[in-house]
Amino acid sequence: MRTIGLIGGMSWQSSRLYYDRINQMVADRLGGAHSARIIINSLDFGPIAKMQTAGEWREAGAVLANAAQSLERAGADVIAIGANTMHKVAQQVMASVRLPLIHIGDALAKELKADARSRPLLLGTRYTMEDPFLIDHLGNKGIGAVTPDKADRDALHAIIYDQLIKGVVTDQARDTVRAMIDRSSAKEADSVVFACTEIGMLFPPTEAGLPGYDTLEIHAAALVDFSLA
Ligand code: GLU
Repeated sequence: MRTIGLIGGMSWQSSRLYYDRINQMVADRLGGAHSARIIINSLDFGPIAKMQTAGEWREAGAVLANAAQSLERAGADVIAIGANTMHKVAQQVMASVRLPLIHIGDALAKELKADARSRPLLLGTRYTMEDPFLIDHLGNKGIGAVTPDKADRDALHAIIYDQLIKGVVTDQARDTVRAMIDRSSAKEADSVVFACTEIGMLFPPTEAGLPGYDTLEIHAAALVDFSLA
């Protein structure tokens, strides 16, 4: 079994879900007392969130690159960034290590293509919905993602940063996100992507009203595939 190196803490609420899902998948596949070989480098999200707000992506990328290098030194066989937003600096992280990086967008595109989805509604932080890094990543693979309107994007961004990363899950947030998925019928979305690793805390993708794809689940499965290959 190869060792997964996860850059976590972004947020820690989702890192514990990564840890849980990766171990459960390994246990299901191997049976017995098996569990995952994984090293998590869990960062303090406080300064990173500040750098995001300030647009200091190069500096944030350097923090993640350092984390990746220490995972490499610690014996990881593969690197993963445990968040969608911070894939904005994936190139910088990749350039800092010799290990392969399993990109959340590659894992997602593979799943969408397998189900012939070409127009997913992408839900995530404002950075993920408004900067092109993930949308272009999918676009290069022939998938034309759409995003909610501005008021919905702002509401979702606030739910993620004010509530979900702190472990706060409310019915009001569930209703808000469900309503924005319903409104996406006007955009002719054929599916919905939870392109933020905390959104699944609200409800599972199977209850999204459209065919749902949770990037945390998909990314975790891709890491387990690599680890057990
Ligand atoms: N975990 C989130 C994501 O998947 C948001 C937190 C962050 O900005 O990294 O995008």
